[in-house]
Amino acid sequence: MAAVAALRNLKDVALRTIDNLASELYELNQKIWKKPELCYQENYAHEVLTKFLNDKGFEVTPHHTLDTAFRAVSGRCTRRIVSFICEYDALPGIGHACGHNLIAEVGVGAALGVKAALDVVKQDLGKVVVLGTPAEEGGGGKIKMIENGCFEEVDFCLMAHPKSFSCIYPTCLAMQAVQVTYHGVSSHASAFPWEGVNALDAAIMAYNAVSVLRQQLKPTWRLHGVITDGGSKPNIIPEKASLAYYVRAPTEEELMDLRSKAHRCFEAASQATGCTVDIHWDSMFYSNMATNEHLAELYGENAQDFGLTFPPREEQAKASFGSTDMGNVSHVKPSIHPYFDIETSAANHTHEFTAASGRTEAHDRAVIQAKVMAMTALDVLCNDQAWKAIVADFEKVHGRMKPRLT
Ligand SMILES: [Zn+2]
Ligand SMILES: [Zn+2]
Repeated sequence: MAAVAALRNLKDVALRTIDNLASELYELNQKIWKKPELCYQENYAHEVLTKFLNDKGFEVTPHHTLDTAFRAVSGRCTRRIVSFICEYDALPGIGHACGHNLIAEVGVGAALGVKAALDVVKQDLGKVVVLGTPAEEGGGGKIKMIENGCFEEVDFCLMAHPKSFSCIYPTCLAMQAVQVTYHGVSSHASAFPWEGVNALDAAIMAYNAVSVLRQQLKPTWRLHGVITDGGSKPNIIPEKASLAYYVRAPTEEELMDLRSKAHRCFEAASQATGCTVDIHWDSMFYSNMATNEHLAELYGENAQDFGLTFPPREEQAKASFGSTDMGNVSHVKPSIHPYFDIETSAANHTHEFTAASGRTEAHDRAVIQAKVMAMTALDVLCNDQAWKAIVADFEKVHGRMKPRLT
């Protein structure tokens, strides 16, 4: 009973702290929203976030293994270590159309709440690490940071993402990109067409083969692409043509299956036309989001305190999502990546979503998320049983958890 009261008390400290900082958090989100920066160029967001956390008493490592990544730590106790993840990159031409300014706000707000609670107990429950992770939009910043060892010092990771609806168990798909280039032989398209080998024909055949294949794909699989080079002039048989595709599926195993089907389509077009083909699968591989069951349950319980509701789990799983490098994090540390409603019906990556991400309604929702995240982290920091359940859930899916390096 005493433990329950003590935990409630710490949660109240976190909630009060976040409320008191709400207007500063709004300013922070607005600074990032008003100056959108593309992946790996988030210099201004990096500067304002590291300055803010430093001013609030965090020990900050700017440029943490990547130019626009950072790490901010509060506390020295290594008993248990929570990581809040911030994203802050925008999209070309449409600004903060994925609302990553709000992800940064939630991560920083939650970290400040937990720091205040830990300060009350002289930090002896654990510590907080904020990881600033650049380039989610196509750059795989977290994938590089995993390779750089940035996640090895933490026990579990929390991030929340804005959307038009709330969801705890999103089906974020595993994804791999591929570049396909056909090489043929150029020739005058009218005078000597028989001497040419048409690379554009190969690209069109590949595109059509993939489109035919699509009928046999599972409803959860995605295979989509564009022709990025189709020749230069109608009177020259194109000697080079290129396509770019993304291949996605709910698990890495299914992705491998889909990948080999697509690969055969690309090869077949080369056979049919006599072109040679280079098929280059990107070494950067986005994993599916493996939401940690117990961590998600705790998040859901804390969300109820604020009247947040979620669709039935089967419906959540069926909703449409893209891919995220947070998926890769979820395969190395117990993680959650819930989506939160910011009072818009607009889809992410649209001008309307950019506008919604800058509104005060979205900020209000982000403040609630910061609170739910902070409370969830405190549940795990204070309760050994909860931590054991989280580790058990992780190990059920991924095998033995690598010991933390500290
Ligand atoms: Zn996005
Ligand atoms: Zn996003």
